[in-house]
Amino acid sequence: RSRSGSPDLVASNAGTALPYATRSALHLKGLVPSGVEDFTAQELRALEQLNMKSTNLEKYIFLSWLRSTNINLFYRLVLHNLKEIAPVIYTPTVGQACQEYSHIYPFLAPPNSVDGLYIPLTEVDNIEEIIENYKESIAEGSEPEITVITDGSRILGLGDLGMNGMGIPVGKLQLYVAAAGLNPERCLPIVLDFGTDTQKYLDDPLYLGIRQHRPKDNAFYAAANRVVEALHMAFPNMFIQFEDFSTDHAFGLLDHWREKALCFNDDIQGTGCVILGGFISAVEQAGIPAKDQRILFVGAGSAAVGVARQLLEYFTIEHKIPEEQAKAMFWFVDSRGMITANRGDKLAQHKTYFARHDNGDIQCQDLEATLEYVKPTALIGLSTIHKAFNERILTRMNELNSDARPIIFPLSNPETKAECTFEEAMQFTNNRVLFASGTAFPEYTIPETGEVRIPGQGNNMYVFPAIGLGAVLCKPEWITDTMIYAVSKALANSLDEQEKARGELYPRIERIREVSAQLAAAFIHQAVRENIAKDQKWVELAESSSVASGQSVAPDGRYAQSVVEEVKKYMWE
Ligand code: NAP
Ligand code: MN
Repeated sequence: RSRSGSPDLVASNAGTALPYATRSALHLKGLVPSGVEDFTAQELRALEQLNMKSTNLEKYIFLSWLRSTNINLFYRLVLHNLKEIAPVIYTPTVGQACQEYSHIYPFLAPPNSVDGLYIPLTEVDNIEEIIENYKESIAEGSEPEITVITDGSRILGLGDLGMNGMGIPVGKLQLYVAAAGLNPERCLPIVLDFGTDTQKYLDDPLYLGIRQHRPKDNAFYAAANRVVEALHMAFPNMFIQFEDFSTDHAFGLLDHWREKALCFNDDIQGTGCVILGGFISAVEQAGIPAKDQRILFVGAGSAAVGVARQLLEYFTIEHKIPEEQAKAMFWFVDSRGMITANRGDKLAQHKTYFARHDNGDIQCQDLEATLEYVKPTALIGLSTIHKAFNERILTRMNELNSDARPIIFPLSNPETKAECTFEEAMQFTNNRVLFASGTAFPEYTIPETGEVRIPGQGNNMYVFPAIGLGAVLCKPEWITDTMIYAVSKALANSLDEQEKARGELYPRIERIREVSAQLAAAFIHQAVRENIAKDQKWVELAESSSVASGQSVAPDGRYAQSVVEEVKKYMWE
């Protein structure tokens, strides 16, 4: 049924679950322990072994081993325990795994086991040969349909890890498979091994990358573009996800490739998309009209300005508020206070767009003063300042929003930088907060009632797998902002009645496959509406459904259930 459901793969991975008759037919009699069990028993055994590991890094190593030994069992385990296992195969443990990557490298011996492409700067001129080698190593019909590619230069918040950054593409693709059912045989992790400026790795005798410093900008772009070009030539429909490049290069590569190839940058587009999804849910639940929102950003770095630009789309696209008017719903505080055009310092380029012009001679020195001046309905933290949302700030947000629920998003990562915790936000707002954070916070039990509340986490895992799946299926020429917007909208729409009743802003992670199917369907519908989907099957499906309305974005953000059901059939399991 699913593309990957090749009986051979299933049989060769069944092990102790193979019935006697099949063992006989496959000449495996005597080669497997005699007990015949079901997959649930295998999962239990794997979980037992996982729980024997005392550190997260050991768990990571065990799971890597399991993946190369029995890929079906690995993904069943991940999918059925996503909440517990995602932090081991991805953040935060993957960060530690990357730092140690050259030390925990699992002795793979190609061509029988290939975990991805390692492309040294010194071999970029031979990229075609490398791609040929890869093609020879894979089974027929397993051409890659998705790649995650990094150069290891800005891994999570850990800096330049060089070739050790390979752990990120490997881990991220596992989430594409687990959360949206991409076919693991058709996922291609790639590291551009372009050197590192981290002396520790250059000096490490076990470091597995090239031992040289990183190239200058010109040489970087020449080499990176040469690789992307060759990949795009070899696999024209492959979805290319750029990940964890240093900020300048991330924007540079995306600008260059955005309209030329099917590509996406999760750090930039995925983050904006998932925060917007939670924000839409919050505004819909806040209890005042969207146009009356007053949004105060704390921090005005690239993350804050990027997120703000995405939130702006909600007001311009969804509520048809003219851009100038929508922009006036946003205020910013940086380390020098409220950002105004007449503050007296020269504003960095990226801060000028949102700088206020209506403050007269009023300047506010800090967050507290700005809060009194703006009286915001929403407070968004991307400041890296731990506890910036202290008791006074949170209490005041609650008082200022007595007729609506205050929206408070402490988005700085990791936890040691978060502006406040979920517990603090609940306590100081009388449990009225509409909350989403960057890091995962524990649930909170309201002492008076015993009700358990679950904090929203703006986790990119809600959106990038669905965007990848939608792209792989309908094969758009490129990915537009409105297609990303449609995914945010669908994420907000994916909340079920119970989740809404509890005031949650994101769906339960346990429902991720269902949610991914809905988001992928929304993506496909939008691509068809914009006339850039190349796969005729999906064009016809979307067009024949009643909601392909010819408008730029479906007004209700919906998409036909029939397309959702069809998407599910393509999910690997
Ligand atoms: P950044 O460039 O260092 O920006 C930090 C901003 O905070 C700067 O504008 C800085 O002001 C401002 N700031 C510093 N001290 C302040 C204070 N006391 N009061 C008010 N503002 C203050 O960092 P970034 O790359 O934008 O990232 C910011 C945070 O966002 C990081 O923690 C990152 O982990 C997080 N992030 C989260 C997500 C997510 O999905 N949740 C995604 C991306 C980033 P100046 O401009 O005056 O220096
Ligand atoms: Mn990233």
